[in-house]
Amino acid sequence: MSVVTLSQWIGGEPRAPSSGETLEDKNPATDEVIAQIPRGDGRDVQAAVEAARAALAGPWGRTSSGERADLLDRVADAIEARLDAWAELESQDTGKPVSLARAVDIPRAVSNFRFFAGAIRHSAEGFHPMAGAFNYTLRRPVGVVGLITPWNLPLYLLTWKTAPALAMGNAIVAKPSELTPRTAAALAELLTEVGLPAGAFNLVHGLGPEVGEPLVAHPDVRAISFTGGTATGARVAATAAPHFKKVSLELGGKNPTLVFADCDLEKTLEGVTRAAFANQGQICLCGSRILVEESLHDRFVEGLVERTRALKLGDPSDPATTTGSLVSLGHREKVEGYVALAQEEGGTIRCGGERPELPAPFDRGAFLEPTVITGLAPGCRTEQEEIFGPVVTVHPFRDEAEALQIANGVRYGLASSVWTRDLDRAHRVAAALDVGMVWVNTWLLRDLRVPFGGVKESGVGREGGRYSLEFFSESKNVCIKLSD
Ligand code: NAD
Repeated sequence: MSVVTLSQWIGGEPRAPSSGETLEDKNPATDEVIAQIPRGDGRDVQAAVEAARAALAGPWGRTSSGERADLLDRVADAIEARLDAWAELESQDTGKPVSLARAVDIPRAVSNFRFFAGAIRHSAEGFHPMAGAFNYTLRRPVGVVGLITPWNLPLYLLTWKTAPALAMGNAIVAKPSELTPRTAAALAELLTEVGLPAGAFNLVHGLGPEVGEPLVAHPDVRAISFTGGTATGARVAATAAPHFKKVSLELGGKNPTLVFADCDLEKTLEGVTRAAFANQGQICLCGSRILVEESLHDRFVEGLVERTRALKLGDPSDPATTTGSLVSLGHREKVEGYVALAQEEGGTIRCGGERPELPAPFDRGAFLEPTVITGLAPGCRTEQEEIFGPVVTVHPFRDEAEALQIANGVRYGLASSVWTRDLDRAHRVAAALDVGMVWVNTWLLRDLRVPFGGVKESGVGREGGRYSLEFFSESKNVCIKLSD
C-alpha cells in the first residue's frame, strides 16, 4: 500500500507544518504505515486561528442561515458520493470492519450535515412582549471555535461538531486524533471543494499537548468542543477556564447494562452483545458493566458467552468480519493489562482475553478476542475504570435497589441500557439512573434532536439538536420600549 503524506489545511489550502516534521499513521490491523501526518505545533495553530478570524471578517461572516443550510446539504451530498472510499479510509485508520464504517460512520457524517441544515432552516428565536415594550433574541456565532476529537468514531464525531458550528456561522480550527487523521483531512478538502469560504474550516494535525493544548489556550478561540478521555477533559477545562471560554466536554464512561429476569432473553442477548462489543468495545456508550438479576444470571452468561464466541474477528475489509482490531498496539496492551488485573482481582475469564491467531498480515495487528469476565466485586478497579475495549464484566443483583446501587456506584455517568418487559420498572429505573442517557430494550438508537452527554466525570454540557446550536452561538436580547 502506498504511503500518503497529509498536510495541514489552513485558509482553504494545504500547508506544510511549521516544524517540518511528520508523524507516522499506521493501520492497526496490519501495523503498516499508511500515512505521514504533519506534526503541528503552536505556530500552525496561530496561522489557523488567523485564517479563521479573517474568514469571519470576510464573506463567511455575512452569510445568511439559508445560505449555510444549502452549503451543509451540499457537503452531505458530497460525502454520500464518497461513501465507499471514505469507509475504507476510516477502516484502515481505525482497524474497524469496513462494513461498520459503511453502515454507521460515514452515513452518520452525512446525516449530521443534513440534520443541521434542516435544523437551522426551521429554527425560530425568542420574542417576549411585556407591558409597553417587547424583547427579541438575536443569535450570533461565538466566533473562532476549536473542535478536538478522539479516534474511535473519527469522522462521525468531527462532523457532529463541524455541522452545527458551521450552521451557526462560526469559523473552525479542528484537531483530529493523531491516530486517525485521514477522514478529517478528506473532509477539509471536500469543504473547500463544495464552496466553503477559505478559513471557515481549518485543520491542524499533530499531538494533543503540541496542538490541542495551544488551541485550547489561544485567547481568540472562544469555544472548545472536546470529545475524549476524562483526564484530558480535565486538562482542557483547566486551560480554558481563565479565558472564560465556552466549553463542552464529552468524556469517558463505564456504562451499566441492567438486565431484569422478565426481559425477552433472545432480544436482550442480541442487544447486550452489540452494546458490549460494537466497534471492538471502543464506543463511549458501550455497556461494559452488565448487571443481571440473580435468577437469570447463569443462563444469561451462557448465552452471552456463546454469542461472544460467535463474533468473527479478522480482516476488516472482509464483509463477514464483525470485529476488527483495536486502534493501536499500545491500546491493546492497556486493555490486556485490565484483563490481567481482573484475574488478580479474583475474576474468572469466561471467554476471550487472548490474542487471536490470524493469518499474515493480520498476525501483526492489534486484535484481541472479545472478553467476558465474571466474579468481580463492584468496587474493584476493573469495575470502576474505563477500559474502552472488548472487555465486559457480568454481575448478579438481588433486586432493583441493588442494581441501581451498583449501576450508580462509579465516578462516570454517561449512558445506560435497561432490559425489561415491565413498563413501570423501566420508567422508575430510567429516572433513578445517574447518567445522561438511558435506552430501554435497545442501545444506541439515536435521534439527532435529543440531548447527548453525561453527568459526573462523563462530561459537561449536551450536544444534539438545539443543544449544539445553542453551544455554537451567543444569544443577545434586544429590548425595545414603545413610545407612550
Ligand atoms: P484522548 O483524551 O486521549 O484524546 C482526545 C483528543 O484530545 C485527541 O485529539 C488528542 O490528541 C487530544 N488531546 C490530548 N491531549 C490534549 C491536551 N492536553 N489538550 C488538548 N487536546 C489534547 O482520548 P482518546 O483516547 O482519543 O479517545 C478515547 C476516549 O474518548 C475515551 O475515554 C472515550 O470514552 C472518550 N469518548 C467520549 C465520547 C462521548 O461522547 N462522551 C465519545 C467518544 C469517545
